[in-house]
Amino acid sequence: MRVTVDLTKCNAYANCLMEAPEVFDLDGASGLAVVTQEQPPEELRARVEAAARVCPVQAITVED
Ligand code: SF4
Repeated sequence: MRVTVDLTKCNAYANCLMEAPEVFDLDGASGLAVVTQEQPPEELRARVEAAARVCPVQAITVED
């Protein structure tokens, strides 16, 4: 699984961070999302997919 965030869409809502803090953080300067684990372990899949679902601007992509 590979996780990416389109920073041209991200609006710093932080929903992703609430769902999967192991994988997402917010950049202190820009306030935009940072992927801290681009290839998270399979056991985090449900949380990563939940994060992608709750992102209000569909900025998160999860690829296999
Ligand atoms: S939920 Fe979406 S818009 Fe909000 S910080 Fe995460 S990637 Fe950005």
